[in-house]
Amino acid sequence: MRGFDLVVIGGGLLGCFAARNLCRRQLHIALIEAREDVCTGVSRANTAIVYPGYDHKPGTLKAEMTVRANARFAELCAELDVPFSRCGSLMLSCGEKADAVLREKYKNGLSMAVPGLRLLSGEEARELEPSLTAGVTSALYAPTAGTVNPWELGIAAVENAAANGAELFLNNRVLGIRKTAEGYRIETDREVFACRAVLNCAGLYADRVQELLFPSEVHIVPDGADYLILDRAAANKPTHIIQYEPEDGGKGFNAVPTVEGSLLLGPSERANELDFAVSERGIDFVRERAAFVLPGLDLGELIRSFAAVRPNPRREDGSSIGSFVIENPAPGFWSMIGIKTPGLTCADELGRFAAEKAAAFLNAGPNERFDPRRRGIKKARGMSWEQRAAAVRSDPDYGEVVCCCEDITKAEVLEAIRRGATTLDAVKRRTGACMGRCQGSRCQQKLLALLARELGVPEDAVTKDGAGSEVLGGGRHED
Ligand SMILES: Cc1cc2nc3c(=O)[nH]c(=O)nc-3n(C[C@H](O)[C@H](O)[C@H](O)COP(=O)(O)OP(=O)(O)OC[C@H]3O[C@@H](n4cnc5c(N)ncnc54)[C@H](O)[C@@H]3O)c2cc1C
Repeated sequence: MRGFDLVVIGGGLLGCFAARNLCRRQLHIALIEAREDVCTGVSRANTAIVYPGYDHKPGTLKAEMTVRANARFAELCAELDVPFSRCGSLMLSCGEKADAVLREKYKNGLSMAVPGLRLLSGEEARELEPSLTAGVTSALYAPTAGTVNPWELGIAAVENAAANGAELFLNNRVLGIRKTAEGYRIETDREVFACRAVLNCAGLYADRVQELLFPSEVHIVPDGADYLILDRAAANKPTHIIQYEPEDGGKGFNAVPTVEGSLLLGPSERANELDFAVSERGIDFVRERAAFVLPGLDLGELIRSFAAVRPNPRREDGSSIGSFVIENPAPGFWSMIGIKTPGLTCADELGRFAAEKAAAFLNAGPNERFDPRRRGIKKARGMSWEQRAAAVRSDPDYGEVVCCCEDITKAEVLEAIRRGATTLDAVKRRTGACMGRCQGSRCQQKLLALLARELGVPEDAVTKDGAGSEVLGGGRHED
């Protein structure tokens, strides 16, 4: 049995940032993840927006955390060496009812001191973003909104946590939790852990993980969402995040110019689905919205679609919960249940919040040796010729391009494997290989060969991902 001060269950954004922030204290931390890699659940599939903070009720924990998180985001990404684009956002309305919603959000934003907010006329909005529909009647401009690659951020956080002493246990699915005299005993399908405190960050399954020991007042009701990605070559892409507030109060829409240069469109909304498979209905919805909001957009440059699942928190009576839920059913046990948007924006804030609670309970002092800095994998893309020549001199594998669409070299792939990637998807998430125009049709085989060689296994033993996992023996969770 392994002993720790605190065990974090779940290696999504919340678990990774909780682990990192817990390392700021003198604590021995374990992060247990069911899958073969971190950030393969909700944190893998979302809209990637770093919200400015005008969307939530002023004075709530969610609103306060979002504004604070946004203000700190550039510094956080600099510490973790992760690209962040503060491209600003325009929330659009096309009629009086939605105009009123925008005015309300503007007021909210002002009372939360969201920097730089402006209400624009339709004409002013089109001056900023000429590709918008002529039907825009007003727009709420937020210059502090931005975007980040969510899994890149989570991977960076867990690498930094590990460098500061946290231990990561992948392929360990928590199946049982028991109370002991000293704290808790956690049983996975592989090992047993003893700890003084537990932080449950199991995403879509956080309610069920809590119910292994305590009742949960909050239950997760999942629903599905679909997205499209357009290649960076698509004509008339917006340079700001475009958000659409429909006049009929229905599902909104986002177009996000990603840090990689592609354009993310979506999401749709499908009730009661715990399934990461794309739906035709959802894709049609996203295409229709995109064609309406950005009529000149070249939808023929579609390179990929994917689906997401929202962990909607509900009370016993079925009513929905708008705030962040952090349950504390017993001393030394916390659950973050049903944290959806803006959980990416607030991952570090939520991690700090949980870490402070845990540190107070465990009476843990500051860790003076904590180093917040992490270096990412050195990317060939974007290097000048001189920089590239220097990179090749120091490591000849920088001279071999493996993924032509995204300009990813063999050196980057090998470094990703060295940092713990064991599947094709894990390499993709760490390097961006296979994520461009050809979606891996030209480079996937090369990645397989490199993985097989480095892992010392035959090529047919290398998997794309962990191919789904039974979480708690219940519903099947397939990516
Ligand atoms: C459609 C959608 C769009 C969103 N868009 C945005 C956005 O634009 N901006 C923003 O700020 N936020 C956004 N969010 C919210 C954000 O993505 C989430 O809040 C965040 O990713 C939640 O991360 P998590 O760690 O809770 O969950 P996850 O990433 O799902 O992580 C939970 C982990 O727990 C593991 N696990 C589960 N059960 C067990 C077990 N028994 N044992 C061990 N491990 C287990 C899982 O394998 C998983 O890796 C969006 C969310 C959704 C759904």
